[in-house]
Amino acid sequence: MYECAIIGTGAAGISAALTLKALNKNFIWFGDGKLSGKIRSAEKIGNYPGLSMVSGNELAESFLSQIKEMDIRIENKTVTGVYQMEGYFSVLCNQDMYDAKTVILATGVESVKPVKGELEFVGRGVSYCATCDGFLYKGKTVFVVCTEKSLEHEIEYLASLAAKVYVVALYKNVALKSGNIEIVSGMPVEITGGRKAEKVRFRDKEYSVDGVFMLKAAITPSVLVSGLETENGHVKVDRSCATNLEGCFAAGDCTGRPYQYAKAVGEGNVCAHAVVSYLAEQKQKETLSTV
Ligand SMILES: Cc1cc2nc3c(=O)[nH]c(=O)nc-3n(C[C@H](O)[C@H](O)[C@H](O)COP(=O)(O)OP(=O)(O)OC[C@H]3O[C@@H](n4cnc5c(N)ncnc54)[C@H](O)[C@@H]3O)c2cc1C
Repeated sequence: MYECAIIGTGAAGISAALTLKALNKNFIWFGDGKLSGKIRSAEKIGNYPGLSMVSGNELAESFLSQIKEMDIRIENKTVTGVYQMEGYFSVLCNQDMYDAKTVILATGVESVKPVKGELEFVGRGVSYCATCDGFLYKGKTVFVVCTEKSLEHEIEYLASLAAKVYVVALYKNVALKSGNIEIVSGMPVEITGGRKAEKVRFRDKEYSVDGVFMLKAAITPSVLVSGLETENGHVKVDRSCATNLEGCFAAGDCTGRPYQYAKAVGEGNVCAHAVVSYLAEQKQKETLSTV
């Protein structure tokens, strides 16, 4: 059992990982091994203390070498679910499950807002993970909205099972090969259905489908962690970055504006310290209960 699971390799997750490592905690860290694309996307950063007009790429390389120097490992995986158990969390990455006493959500904000109906039909025809749920659609018709080139293999996997795969690809250099894939232009406005998702609607057309896959780098936190309280689309936290779920903390863009590196780094640090205090309190409770 890990003492903490950190989700997300942006500025918030990096700061949390560096602090937990310095405090000698046993943690696992999930996300893109090359770090958040958002770190690299800034042309010049003028407001990061100590690094004047650094580029996003320079900042990312500097973060990576610091992570390496501190001997910290990134588990190059997307988390598909976080489940609160009795006194710990089970973190699911497709088929692999990891247990941790605490969780830090550092998942950033989604660049693509959920489509109308998306959240309503999660688990009823809408999925975020092709390798988890693809087998349900053998010989059927599925619709995919994909935001990342790195997730193209998930579309090919779906194409190996389904009869037909419609794809809205929101990235450059699309290189999908399977003959049963059809690229669709535009962006869906709504997912509709009855008991299950049945149609993907555009302004000027609609597709009848058996399932919808939203393949993105970030999954809405309240979908990722059932029972998590949010406010205006952000994770609700107190000053110690604690969420409404005991042992679950959140940092960075996912907790709200301003969307800035310095705020993300600060909250990542606060989260790590809050985790350490929480673990110590839990240990004390356990000791008292055995006396
Ligand atoms: C073009 C651009 C320029 C910017 N310029 C500046 C600037 O000059 N100054 C400034 O202060 N800020 C700037 N920002 C904002 C800054 O990039 C963000 O505030 C910062 O990256 C937030 O860090 P974060 O760790 O909260 O989230 P992110 O950097 O978004 O990182 C979150 C990470 O979590 C990952 N993740 C999400 N869900 C999961 C999951 N389920 N499993 C595994 N991983 C997951 C995501 O893929 C992502 O890698 C800029 C942003 C952009 C887009």
